Amino acid sequence: MQEVAHPLALSVWRGAKGRCPACGRGPLFWKYLKVNGRCERCDEDLSRYPADDGPAYVTILLTGHLIIVPLLFIPWVWQSPARSLPLVMSGLAASTLTVLPRIKGAWIGLMYALAVKSTDGRLHTADAAD
Ligand SMILES: [Zn+2]
Repeated sequence: MQEVAHPLALSVWRGAKGRCPACGRGPLFWKYLKVNGRCERCDEDLSRYPADDGPAYVTILLTGHLIIVPLLFIPWVWQSPARSLPLVMSGLAASTLTVLPRIKGAWIGLMYALAVKSTDGRLHTADAAD
């Protein structure tokens, strides 16, 4: 079983708020999804926690199950004329773009709590050469 190096819920919550998972004070991102190299408050090396495609998968999973599936049960959406499609799609895009940085922050908080670092990828046997 994976040993938890730091408080899991607290680290994930801090990351979801866009804050450093270590101290909760420094900003996690310097642009929309660009992670700061180091925390400006506690000097934690934030660049070593991998996010890769994980936050995108979770965001798609959430928007797919929590937004698109309920929309299919609202007759207004699928019975409306095609000109209302941009309205629905822009709302979906806005919600996805709002959720994505929070999921990425939470993901990095999870990696921090579990002490999973980018360099741990070389330990995966699936990536090993024959
Ligand atoms: Zn910090």
